[in-house]
This record gives sequence, structure tokens and C-alpha cells, in this order.
Amino acid sequence: MDWTRGHIIGHGSSAAVSVAKSSFSDEVFAVKSVELSKSQLLQKEQKILSQLSSSYIVSYKGYDVTKENNKLLFNLMMEYMPDGTLSDEIQKQGGQMNEPLIGYYTKQIVQGLEYLHSRSIAHCDMKGQNILVGKTGAKIADFGCARWIDPTERDGDAEPIGGTPMFMAPEVARGEEQGCPADIWGLGCTIIEMATGGSPWTNVSTAASLLYKIAFSGQSPVIPKFLSLQAKDFLNKCLRRDSKERWTAKQLLKHPFLESNSTTIQDFETSSPTSILDQDIWNSVEESETMNSTILQTFSSPLQRVRELGSDSAEWNWRWNDDHRWITVRRSNQ
Ligand code: ATP
Repeated sequence: MDWTRGHIIGHGSSAAVSVAKSSFSDEVFAVKSVELSKSQLLQKEQKILSQLSSSYIVSYKGYDVTKENNKLLFNLMMEYMPDGTLSDEIQKQGGQMNEPLIGYYTKQIVQGLEYLHSRSIAHCDMKGQNILVGKTGAKIADFGCARWIDPTERDGDAEPIGGTPMFMAPEVARGEEQGCPADIWGLGCTIIEMATGGSPWTNVSTAASLLYKIAFSGQSPVIPKFLSLQAKDFLNKCLRRDSKERWTAKQLLKHPFLESNSTTIQDFETSSPTSILDQDIWNSVEESETMNSTILQTFSSPLQRVRELGSDSAEWNWRWNDDHRWITVRRSNQ
């Protein structure tokens, strides 16, 4: 497919995402690009995304390799989501969302997770920044940490552990395992993000103390008091520390909090840009964030895992308010 790259619309820890236009039609899509020599993870993301087809997952459009400024780039093409991320949407709603809107987005995210998990795929990096918003609502995106789950495999070292510490489940922070239940924990943290505009954990000053708290404190994030009983109960089912007690996406779809939600996007006022020509929001996206995103090799104990995960990322920006971004980290097993 011949296409032209437009401006950058987003930047994550591993890749730059640009808007692009097909040369043969007026189709606009998004292209996530990384230097070919460093594109192992993006190629894995392409393999996973190419197998998925759901209204609740950002759709796959293809891939190619291009030469730009004398560099070979691996490009993953996908559906362009004009309204940005769920975290952007929270800001547009004044810093927090009302409960019907939370229910509306949550139902779509759970439908996306149910689809993924039924195909033995765990996303492994659930957070507002990895949910994209468009005309039909929310879709799960960024499969850079996603993995196929082998139900017979209990060894956490078989696949690298990844994700965003602030949204990590206790079993992931301890380096034990990372599967579908960890996505449900991340969903719970994302609901808190929607309800409060803030992070699931507060009063943590360093990555190490955050990870230690998640891994060993016995606590779960505080459920906002102002939510309805149904919403609180739903969150309680997502944020069980024991992964075996956490509800599955299939069970959550039957929870009264979602069952009673028949809201459509038309029920909400939106000031989001609707066309590629009307997107000042994209132009203001921060251009560059360079960081080492691959951490940890071997561990002797869960405590050591937590220490190393924390110390390696201690210089990173852990605060929510600077640019509303949380950082994904990946543990290498190479
Ligand atoms: P992370 O640090 O979370 O691993 P990443 O490098 O894998 O990030 P993405 O999260 O996939 O990159 O994309 C970075 C940003 O680009 C997103 O937060 C979003 O703002 C924008 N973006 C990504 N995909 C799309 C899309 N299909 N449509 C519109 N914007 C997108």
C-alpha cells in the first residue's frame, strides 16, 4: 500500500505514532513506527493485532518497511482513532467522568477484554493511555506488552513481564505471573482513573515504594466513596489481590453495574475533534520521551524483583500531573 506520513499524533515509550493517508484513496489511518533494527516488540504487536477483529479492539490495517531519512522503519498500520486516549477524554471531561460515562466506557473495555481472553491473549498493559476513543466509543490499543497465554504454564519467567507499575497487579509486581487476571486488575485501576482523574495509588514517592506496596502491602487501591454501590462492588471484584478470586471479563459482563448500562455515546456531550483537520489536540502532543524500557534479567526472590524493577525506573517521572502519562516498562528475559 502506498501512503504518505502526516504529523506525529502520539509518542509512547517505544514508538512514534503518526497520522497517514493512503495514496489511492482518502483513507486516513495511524502508523506506529520504530527503526527496523529495534522493532522486535512492534513486530510481535503486529502478529497479535493481525489476528484480532472486534469492534472493541483498534483494527489492524497492515504493515510494511520504509526507508525514511536513510533509516529503515518498521510500520504497523491501524485504524485512526480521532479522539485520542481515554486519559485525554478524562481531561476533556474536566478531570473526572460521571458514573454513566464510566459505565459506558467500562462495558466496551470489558467486551474487548472478553474477546481477547477468549482467544488466550492477555493485554498486559491496561491503562487509560492504552484505550483509544472514537465515534463508537472505546477500543483497546497498544499490544506492545500483549502475550499468548499458555494455560499449562505457571512459570513467570517463560515470557518477559511488562506493563506500567502504577497499574500492575500484585502477582505481576512480585514477578510471579502475568495473565488475564492482571488485565482485570488494570481495568479496576483504569476505572479509578476515570472516576477520580488521578492514580490508583497515592502517597508513594518512588517506583520502588510503589512496587513494594503493590506486591506486599496486602492493600488494594482505595475505591472512591462517591461511587454507587453497584460500581463499588464491580471495582471490588476487579481489585481482589488474589488473582484467583478476581472476576473474569465474562463474569463482569453479567455484573449489574454493566448489565444496567444501556447508555450510548449520543447521551453525552462531546467537544472532541471529529476530523483530521480539526485536531489541535494532536499538535500539542509532547514530541520526545527517551528512556530505557527494558529492565531486569534474573532474580533470586520476589523481593529482589521488586527492588530492581523499582530502582531501574526510579529516575523516571512517576507523577500524574506533569503530562498525564504513565510509563510502560518491560522486563527482558534475553
Ligand atoms: P507505551 O509507552 O504505552 O508502550 P507505545 O510506544 O507502545 O506506548 P502507543 O501507546 O501504541 O505507543 O501509542 C502512543 C500514543 O499514540 C497513544 O497514547 C495515542 O496518543 C497515540 N495513538 C496510538 N495509536 C493510535 C491510533 N490508532 N489512533 C490515534 N492515536 C493513536
